[in-house]
Amino acid sequence: MRAKIQKSMLLLICAAVISSFVMLEIVFYVYSLNQMKKEVKQEVEYIVAAIHISGTSYLDEMDAAAVDTRLTLISEEGEVLYDSQEDEYTFQNHAGRKEIREALESGSGEALRSSETVGKRTYYYAVRLEEGMVLRASKTLDYLIPIVLGALPFMVLTALIMIVLAYFLAKWQTARLIRPINELDLEHPLENSVYEELTPLLQNMESQNKAKEEVADMRKEFSANVSHELKTPLTSISGYAEIMKSGIAKPEDMTRFSEIIYKEASRLIVLIEDIMKLSKLDEQDVDMEREDVDLFDMCREICNRLAFQAEQKDVHLELTGEKVLYNGVRQILDEMIYNVCENAVKYNVDGGRVKIWVGNTLRGPKIIVEDTGIGIPEDQKERIFERFYRVDKSHSKATGGTGLGLSIVKHGAIYHHAEIHVESTLGKGTRMEIRF
Ligand code: ADP
Repeated sequence: MRAKIQKSMLLLICAAVISSFVMLEIVFYVYSLNQMKKEVKQEVEYIVAAIHISGTSYLDEMDAAAVDTRLTLISEEGEVLYDSQEDEYTFQNHAGRKEIREALESGSGEALRSSETVGKRTYYYAVRLEEGMVLRASKTLDYLIPIVLGALPFMVLTALIMIVLAYFLAKWQTARLIRPINELDLEHPLENSVYEELTPLLQNMESQNKAKEEVADMRKEFSANVSHELKTPLTSISGYAEIMKSGIAKPEDMTRFSEIIYKEASRLIVLIEDIMKLSKLDEQDVDMEREDVDLFDMCREICNRLAFQAEQKDVHLELTGEKVLYNGVRQILDEMIYNVCENAVKYNVDGGRVKIWVGNTLRGPKIIVEDTGIGIPEDQKERIFERFYRVDKSHSKATGGTGLGLSIVKHGAIYHHAEIHVESTLGKGTRMEIRF
């Protein structure tokens, strides 16, 4: 960046210096040309005055060599009567020349063109004399070139000095511009008071830092929770196994202890499976295969899987709705719907009901799961989607919950750009809607 700014600054200065010198040369040239025109005109005026006094013979008497302006006297018909530098072109008829025509018409005329005689750019100025003749003076622009070019070495030297100066100036200015950027405190982007233009970038950095911190905090909390959740069943497994190993357990307790060990081990397996599902959903970049899934069919199949659990609690499962085709990842959709339906059974009262509706709405497919269970306190309606959050820990554990089910639902919904809406009344029941 530094090199780029420096380079473009230098380039800009060089372009400015060079173009201003070129302009200066042009101005100088135009000025010199005008000056030369003035001189020629003045010279002609003097000679005209002299001719007026002593006639055209003055021209013969004049020391032509002393005057570097070529003088020509032309008759009304265009014939050359006198020429200070006679040559083969002298005897051509001059009536057609622009300056002569103008002089004959209006008293004076001028022209700037390449001379037929010398092939050089020449300035002509002609004046009509009283006798009807025309006196013309001409001067080549050749002598202007050394004048104009004479200033060139000085200009080139000045330009070089200016460019060297510009190089150091650009270097210094770039360093000055870049310094605040180099000194940015990236840990606390908003505490920097640099260029206003950087504010959106710094704000973006700040929110990215915050998001990173949040993710880091969440990871820390998650690992702490995971360790705790793993440790509890493992402590109980190891404790009961130790009692059994030491032989102090009574034979009649053995079945009960083995049952506890089996239950805790199963809980661990479910927990680890849930953690694996969540971490898979966390890798959002991973593209899983999508397919057209019939959500109604899926719900029916889930109801079958939950039938035993529901029967145990005497909960009545009811599925209504219609065939709904949705393009999604089958496994994730299954986990989402299963968890919501399982909760409706788990957190239901004995003899309660669970109503599941699947259908198409104007805004897309929708699944509604309604239960007549214990309900969720209003202030915890959002928190239940946090990892390991349970309203009633002992109830959740008693029903084999891991506290991860609704986190899986939330992440599955994010993956499918779906929304989850919860309505609940404590002691009356809960209604969860998944809107795809
Ligand atoms: P768990 O494994 O504990 O069921 P979830 O993430 O599935 O974990 O749910 C989080 C908490 O939300 C549960 O512990 C429970 O307290 C509450 N909850 C979820 N669904 C319901 C429901 N239908 N009725 C009442 N409470 C619910």
